[in-house]
Amino acid sequence: IAATRCRCTADQSCFPNAKHWERFNLTVGGALIQVRPPASPCYDADGTAQCATARANWHDSAWRSTQVGAAEHPNWEAYGTQSCPLPPNGTALPSASSCSQGSVPVLAVNVSSISQVQAAIHFARQHFLRIVVKSTGHDYLGRSFARGSLSIWTHNLKSIQFSEEFVEEGCDPHSSGASAVEVGAGVQWRELYTAAHAQGKLVVGALSSSVATGGGYVQGGGHSPLSAAYGLAADNSLQFTIVTPDGTVRYANRCVNRDLFWALRGGGGGTFGVVTAAVHRTFPAPSNILSAVHVLAASGVGSYRQLMGQFTQLSAALYRQGWAGYFVMGGTSLTLRYHALTQTTAFHDHSFGSFLEWIARHNATVRAVGGGVRSYPSFLEWYNDTMCSFYPSATGGGICNDDLGTNRVLISRLVPANAIESSGGEISDALVTLLQSNATSNAILGVAVSGGAAAAVAGDAVAVNPAWRQALWHITAESSWDESSLMDRLTAANAQLRDLTPCSGAYFNEADYNEPDWQQSLFGNNYQRLLTVKTQVDPRGLLVCWHCVGSEHW
Ligand SMILES: Cc1cc2nc3c(=O)[nH]c(=O)nc-3n(C[C@H](O)[C@H](O)[C@H](O)COP(=O)(O)OP(=O)(O)OC[C@H]3O[C@@H](n4cnc5c(N)ncnc54)[C@H](O)[C@@H]3O)c2cc1C
Repeated sequence: IAATRCRCTADQSCFPNAKHWERFNLTVGGALIQVRPPASPCYDADGTAQCATARANWHDSAWRSTQVGAAEHPNWEAYGTQSCPLPPNGTALPSASSCSQGSVPVLAVNVSSISQVQAAIHFARQHFLRIVVKSTGHDYLGRSFARGSLSIWTHNLKSIQFSEEFVEEGCDPHSSGASAVEVGAGVQWRELYTAAHAQGKLVVGALSSSVATGGGYVQGGGHSPLSAAYGLAADNSLQFTIVTPDGTVRYANRCVNRDLFWALRGGGGGTFGVVTAAVHRTFPAPSNILSAVHVLAASGVGSYRQLMGQFTQLSAALYRQGWAGYFVMGGTSLTLRYHALTQTTAFHDHSFGSFLEWIARHNATVRAVGGGVRSYPSFLEWYNDTMCSFYPSATGGGICNDDLGTNRVLISRLVPANAIESSGGEISDALVTLLQSNATSNAILGVAVSGGAAAAVAGDAVAVNPAWRQALWHITAESSWDESSLMDRLTAANAQLRDLTPCSGAYFNEADYNEPDWQQSLFGNNYQRLLTVKTQVDPRGLLVCWHCVGSEHW
């Protein structure tokens, strides 16, 4: 991958002039738009109404995903100290010079057709531009933003088409078809969950409703509440339509462009081309989804360590029994949100019984303070209750609000099932220590959705980090971000968990910005093959992103 010189950005004389951009705009049917940071109207004398909209929706992840210049976590809109903060309410009009473009791309192509993507790639190649691809701006490492760049914005590719007999392009048209759905890259998960519900179908997708169905999520692997039952999202991809960096539109599936298809299933978004559509396998809707929520509180750190030790043992058993779920550690409390398909409350009692008895026996120091067991008649109803009931969203279109819009970075680790079985006590202690370190925001999210179908896939079947196949937990700890030294503290705080799981790694989409030995950690033994594919499809390094395949050459 040739990294002979830096790519051309807006502050350089090599950047195309206004005439060039005008001509380019004609080739994309007028879809070229100027991009400003989301708070920029608050610095304009005539921006009062737009500023009020930005202020009202600042933390609404659904609204942010509709704004070409917004990241879900605004720290990625900044470039060092250059940013465009939302001024405090009621202040006088601030000076325009205190709103900086930061890392927000200067221009974007608001894509509605494949030919526009081809034109954008052609123009970027011609002028050696720095480009980024963006669907929603959820990326935890800021990969959909770059200072002085041109953005290819796929958010408005919103088609959804179900098929009972989907046969991949280039495969024998008489071969038996699969139950599948083809989505435009910008369709977001709750839009698809709602459409799938109407068809009596399930699709393996994200917990967050505003993440895109065809962008970075699935290309980075995609864990789902349904992964224990059906695998990761990438395991259920049947085809991508992609414009590769040579400007050619290609299908990638099991019959054509097979290496590229392999790479797109876990090798990372923004790396191999611009995906315009993705096909996901669909499954029949289950008769019910059983939800078990347990909110537990310990009276002190010592009893919290005991509680975490007990839960760690329980978690290993739940993994074997087919439960999937999430746990949140905060202070000295632990909230479990587990679910199982087509199960009854008797199954819950069998699985959780001895754990709950242990809690009851230790009620002087550990208490159950809330929760309940409930059967939902559909995935969508479970999803709405689990994900959409917390924060209201002003944006239409049925996307729920995850309450983002604050500066965030995170660290993570995939914790293998065998490490939990052999050294569960040390691992649960390490989690408590991490929680209490001054680097995290005193909250840890444990994603316990792997095992089952996700563990049954061979480590090299798709490009997803093979560490996912052994993982029982994907641990993430977030921190509010105000200066880069905090990121170093976070990386250091994660050392104990890394040391306890030396053969594992981390999830590409939710990783530490400073992940040590990132090629091995994020891609494992799949890295060399990924690099070969990258070199073949993008020999001039048109697509570069942080800790993405081939980025070490830049
Ligand atoms: C609140 C929240 C909840 C999350 N929940 C989950 C979850 O349940 N499971 C999970 O696995 N992950 C989850 N994630 C992480 C998520 O998978 C990543 O943030 C992912 O990168 C989002 O992809 P996106 O396309 O929506 O975001 P973007 O920021 O738009 O893009 C992410 C990356 O993909 C590239 N990209 C985007 N669109 C395209 C395209 N059309 N073609 C090629 N490349 C593209 C971008 O260049 C960038 O590198 C969550 C993140 C957040 C913030």
